[in-house]
Amino acid sequence: MAFSGALTLTDLNDFITPSQACIKPVEQLNPPEELKEPGAASTEIVIDSSGSYYEVSASGPVPNASTKTTEKKLQQAQISLNDCLACSGCITSAESVLITLQSHTEVLNFLESNPPPTSLSHKVPVLSIAPQSIASLAASVSSGSSSAVSPGQILRRVQAFCTQILGFEHVYDTTFARHIALLEHTQEFFERKRGEGKLPMLASACPGWICYAEKAHSEMLPFIARTKSPQQVMGTLVKSWLGSTWGQQPDQIYHVSVMPCYDKKLEASRQDFYNDVYATRDVDCVITTGELELMMREKGWDLSVPVNDEDAPCHNHSAFPELLAHPGTSSGSYLHSLIAAVTQASPDPLDLTVKTVRTSDYEEYILRNRITGELVFKGAKCYGFRNLQNVVRKVGREAGMQVGRGAAGRMGYDYVEVMACPGGCVNGGGQLKPAVRKKEDEEGYTRSWEDSGVQLPDPSEDAGTIQGPKWGNKEWTKEVDKAYWHDLPTPPASPTPEIQAVTSLAESADRLALRVKVDLCHPKNVAGQSDWASAMDQGAESRRRDLFRTQYRAVESEVVGLAVKW
Ligand code: SF4
Repeated sequence: MAFSGALTLTDLNDFITPSQACIKPVEQLNPPEELKEPGAASTEIVIDSSGSYYEVSASGPVPNASTKTTEKKLQQAQISLNDCLACSGCITSAESVLITLQSHTEVLNFLESNPPPTSLSHKVPVLSIAPQSIASLAASVSSGSSSAVSPGQILRRVQAFCTQILGFEHVYDTTFARHIALLEHTQEFFERKRGEGKLPMLASACPGWICYAEKAHSEMLPFIARTKSPQQVMGTLVKSWLGSTWGQQPDQIYHVSVMPCYDKKLEASRQDFYNDVYATRDVDCVITTGELELMMREKGWDLSVPVNDEDAPCHNHSAFPELLAHPGTSSGSYLHSLIAAVTQASPDPLDLTVKTVRTSDYEEYILRNRITGELVFKGAKCYGFRNLQNVVRKVGREAGMQVGRGAAGRMGYDYVEVMACPGGCVNGGGQLKPAVRKKEDEEGYTRSWEDSGVQLPDPSEDAGTIQGPKWGNKEWTKEVDKAYWHDLPTPPASPTPEIQAVTSLAESADRLALRVKVDLCHPKNVAGQSDWASAMDQGAESRRRDLFRTQYRAVESEVVGLAVKW
């Protein structure tokens, strides 16, 4: 299998279960011929110099020079992403081992073979990049420079690289898609509050967590929000909305997204995001931040060098408002957007209290009526598999189910922002690792690291560069988090609900979101549409759900029973 050069297994302690061998059952398409008598023939598997496998049958029990042999070339076993999704053997970063179909080489191959725009079979190449990926690139560039580089500057440099060097026609960040995801997510929460669904609602933007629930805890599925993640909302925006404004059908657009983790590749490959009519996906290929950076290095692009007009106001260049600030967490602010919405909907003033349960990866947020003291909302932010398992046990216990052991106490949550990675998306497995450039050892002596037996990350790199801290390093995660919030007109990670002042950028995002809704859902009462939450007729509502929500299904556990060790 050919893997991306950026694909490295680093810290695998995010395993929830012990590692297993791949469980994909080996299909025997040509069953072996039955032997007429025991010992009448012998069969061997041989490998030729090109690496092809052959089944060699000899006509006698002990092959010798006079023995007749027949050779049959054996087919290679194929493992697709859907096979990975149907497996409980590996979770999050380990799934990356099986990913070959979605890689930066696929993107380069597509761009190379894409016919010119004058051809009818030309596809419009579009790239969208997550704000966490931009933050990772910004932190990496800033760490090697005397002044900090902003997300806005990085976005401009990525746009320049992708359009001028790679040939993409459009490059966007995904924060407007996240804006729509947050609006839809809020709407879904209030529906559940009215009794149209179960509480607590659990976040749905992290495929690492969703795959885990589908594979190992299907009893959690009714609690997980149905709202699509920003990546998949972006897919809808690019293929359906922008496509229609450009006069292009969904299959005439090739959409690549740059994401902070490998799990987003699995998300994009889900059957629910495949358009049967046009035989295309909302997101055709997902690459990680590391793969984008690798492409830049391969093409000789230096991200630390400024490009023209990189300090121009972000929103002047794009079809969408750019780098929209959503105050709260650097994993999407799902919990905080609900806190803001509940506060806004309350007739009385509310007070917010925040309690750290263990670490900053598990915090509780409680809203109480300032006058009566009544509990109005209880939510939590819960990152990392250890905390996540706790939530699964407790939600299961509250729902009257026995899920594992050790459940303690009642949570009474209305909402939990669940993310699989410790530290959240800024610490995704596909993010850049910090490069530590040093020619001296700890005692200050100049060293040749290679001569000392230290493995360098890339032979083409400066020999003074040694591998930075591994994935999961808290100090580096803080740096990426800092870069994420760099020049945003928002507070850092824990704002009070009062700091939800609507900026002009957010207002224009709301207006554009409404236009997208009207254009795609075709409500009969267009004049009655004032915002995303405005009620529509049944047909339009059903289109909205098709476009902006998804569904989950439990993975059949008997697959494990077919486990075959390769
Ligand atoms: Fe991906 Fe980690 Fe974010 Fe989940 S928390 S979406 S696995 S980066």
